[in-house]
Amino acid sequence: MRKDYIQDKYVIIAPRRLDRPHGEDVNFDLQSAHQSVRLEDCVFCPPRLKVGGALLVVGSKKDWQIMVVKNIYPAVSLDNRKAYGAQEVVIETPKHHLQLEELSVKHVEKILEVYARRTKALMKNQKLEYILIFKNNGGRAGASLQHAHSQIFATGFIPPHLLDKSQRVQAYKLRTGRCVYCDVIKEESKGPRRVYEDHEVLAFTPYASLYNYEIWIMPKRHLDNVTNLNEAELQSFARVLHRIVGKVVHELKLSYNYYFHQVVHDEDQHLYIKITPRGSAWAGVEIGSGIVVNPVAPEAAAKFYRTK
Ligand SMILES: [Zn+2]
Ligand SMILES: [Zn+2]
Repeated sequence: MRKDYIQDKYVIIAPRRLDRPHGEDVNFDLQSAHQSVRLEDCVFCPPRLKVGGALLVVGSKKDWQIMVVKNIYPAVSLDNRKAYGAQEVVIETPKHHLQLEELSVKHVEKILEVYARRTKALMKNQKLEYILIFKNNGGRAGASLQHAHSQIFATGFIPPHLLDKSQRVQAYKLRTGRCVYCDVIKEESKGPRRVYEDHEVLAFTPYASLYNYEIWIMPKRHLDNVTNLNEAELQSFARVLHRIVGKVVHELKLSYNYYFHQVVHDEDQHLYIKITPRGSAWAGVEIGSGIVVNPVAPEAAAKFYRTK
């Protein structure tokens, strides 16, 4: 039984569950999870996409590389006082069949820059308190469209479990004078869960991983949101993200999510990207007790990610 670094979240690491008959269908086929949409019907492909309403275009309107548009099926919006917020879609490439891991590292870096530019724009709205950037890839991760895209979800309130986390991070700081995640980085960079490290970033599998093969990328500098990443940090993030996603898709053959939470105007936060492959469906134990069972030890997952 392991507890999260700061929150009251528990996970049972149970490698023997992998031996159960049909226990974990980790060879879940990623392709079958994708809805196959004909190119001419795809709303993110150039024939049907309206460039005029774009919030941001990288490249020219005729020959764009990345485009940000409003989500046309939003759960929150700026004209709804009860569900106040903004939802945007980042179309990562105009090419229908290219997935993130097939794009160049340079292109992934540009996608991260787009996240930073849109975060900066949304932060100007004083009423927005929380900005989540996420990607669903594959049916099990909740993706409804195959065309490579990610999403930005900004709301006027901080979700309760993040408020709880913010408060615990602040309490730790009052007690010790330090950021808990700066301490985690120091600790994990020496241990068996370290995957990749350079001058800018550390990638590691967290001690109490809730998901099979869960992995985090964190900047070593204490930065609270994506707009503060400098060029070298963006390059490192892109390189590591590209490599990890490639291994998840090609070797594990799993759907995945990645996301970073940003509580706006809270400098005590330490930025991270969490990548969560979706190898196991949560069952009765997880839903009933809130305690997660993970059959892949984070130390084994780290070993897998370290292999070339
Ligand atoms: Zn498309
Ligand atoms: Zn920190």
